[in-house]
Amino acid sequence: MAKYLKNDDLGQWLAELGTEYKIHAPVQEGRSIAFRPLTQDKILRIDRHATIGPKEILFPACEELMHFSYEKDTDNPGREKIRVQPADNAVPTLIFGSRPCDARGFDVFDGAFTQCAVKDNYYAARREQAVVVSIACTRTENTCFCNWVGGSPDGTNGSDVLLTPIQDGFVVQPVTEKGETLLQKGSLLTGAAPDQVREAEQLRAAACASLPEAPDFKCMPEQLYNLFDNMDFWEKQSAKCISCGACTYLCPTCHCFNITDERNGNEGERLRSWDNCMSRQFTQEASGHNPRPEKAYRLKNRVGHKFCYFPDLHEGHIACVGCGRCIKSCPVSLDIRQVVTSAKECHLPAEETDNE
Ligand code: SF4
Ligand code: SF4
Repeated sequence: MAKYLKNDDLGQWLAELGTEYKIHAPVQEGRSIAFRPLTQDKILRIDRHATIGPKEILFPACEELMHFSYEKDTDNPGREKIRVQPADNAVPTLIFGSRPCDARGFDVFDGAFTQCAVKDNYYAARREQAVVVSIACTRTENTCFCNWVGGSPDGTNGSDVLLTPIQDGFVVQPVTEKGETLLQKGSLLTGAAPDQVREAEQLRAAACASLPEAPDFKCMPEQLYNLFDNMDFWEKQSAKCISCGACTYLCPTCHCFNITDERNGNEGERLRSWDNCMSRQFTQEASGHNPRPEKAYRLKNRVGHKFCYFPDLHEGHIACVGCGRCIKSCPVSLDIRQVVTSAKECHLPAEETDNE
């Protein structure tokens, strides 16, 4: 059943939940809005879409996977013993204020990290302990295109609770059992009145209607395979890219990483850090050979991964949630909507469509 929370009670509700969960929420950080641990000194910003999404709460930009230490084996002086202590950083976490596109990004992570042959225990442990409370968008931005890729401003995939802002408060709806359990905690939620539920429905419908009509992307995997060797197309699309990587670091679905061992004397840590497929070094081999030597190859890979290779592996699910951060924060305004639309509309002569 839908509940209601007054605007004035939001702080107190979060404070009550904060006794059980570590709360991350969008807060003002310089000129940006970023998801950070919510503390007294932070200003909560849920009136605008966050500049930096919540992905790093479950997939940190840099995390310790294990600590290791070496010691001399006195029974066998020519050898060393190694001790390994895996890291366990998962704690009960409440992600408050994600947008439906951000929450849907966690669905993509689940597909890559928990539903494949090899499970990523570090991500899985954090995901298991996280509750995601999203806020439906009642105002869309001109970079939003969640409806193009299967989402919507009021989508619930990846969320446990959905809040819809209405006059003076929020209509609060559980999505999962985890969400039901969360809403039983705290004393400030009341039952939502029928007119409050109706108001929320109308606001959500208006937001959905405000987005431009969605193109049909069913043909995209095939079309992108057809364009695989058409480097004229990819050079044209990537011409203004400066390979800064902002698009991948801000993307709610990008999940590539690198692993390094940092050793200091006999102690060390194995670290996992985000990697970025738009950077030249991403595929640089030790031999010096680079199979993606130019930015055209790298943009082809980024778009291909999201709209072709990932859907091929995951029952057609596109690995883009349409949040538009890659457009908004790109220093040269390269627009992925324009790239996929051009790819969709690119008609190749029959003899060029045969992949060798
Ligand atoms: S943010 Fe823009 S310029 Fe930077 S790598 Fe991505 S597409 Fe290129
Ligand atoms: S793309 Fe925009 S409208 Fe759609 S869920 Fe994300 S923030 Fe909301």
